[in-house]
Amino acid sequence: MKRYEATKRRRYSSRFAALASGQEPLALFITCSDSRIVPSLLALSDPGQLFVVRNVANLVPPHVPDAEASDVSVSSAVWYALEVLKIREVIVCGHSGCGGVQALLSGNPPAPLKRWLAPAASAVDAWRERGPLDPSYADNDQLSQVSTLTQVRNLETYDHVRARVEAGEVRLHAWWFDIPSARLLAYSKESNRYVPILETEDERGSRRDTTISTAEAE
Ligand SMILES: [Zn+2]
Repeated sequence: MKRYEATKRRRYSSRFAALASGQEPLALFITCSDSRIVPSLLALSDPGQLFVVRNVANLVPPHVPDAEASDVSVSSAVWYALEVLKIREVIVCGHSGCGGVQALLSGNPPAPLKRWLAPAASAVDAWRERGPLDPSYADNDQLSQVSTLTQVRNLETYDHVRARVEAGEVRLHAWWFDIPSARLLAYSKESNRYVPILETEDERGSRRDTTISTAEAE
């Protein structure tokens, strides 16, 4: 922490002074707790630009009518991001070699992870029923890619998210980081798989649509 005071503080002090009165982040970034995922590196963002939610295996537990039974940490952050901060871009970012996904795949996660991973069982079903998006990856990574899409769809189980997506006010994206190649991929509806994120940009450098909505993804 000493290093921050010695080297970074001076560089960022004016930026933080400008941000002291509030934040206007550009995107909500939901990703895994894994130390190898560095949101500000992948999204090339400065302080104040990314609103981040992290948990084991980048899960978005679907809305259930019995609020007492559900996890509210993700849903409350999503609500705050969209309804208070008025964020319009939402990214769920999975990754290769995910320990949480590996535990899910084993069918018998360690006890402390069991309850957290339970809502992700639907991703395992989707992977087994529909197969991988890209069979060249190992099972663990195939499941991670399918699960990341499932989590994007789970966002739309929340009424306020669905309403904003349908109104064209919010766009949902699935990204996937391949650690061995250090390559960032984005899900492309057109190819029905994750493609290098540069390929989702056209010649003029503007990004092709990688928006996902439940209606189109099903
Ligand atoms: Zn992970």
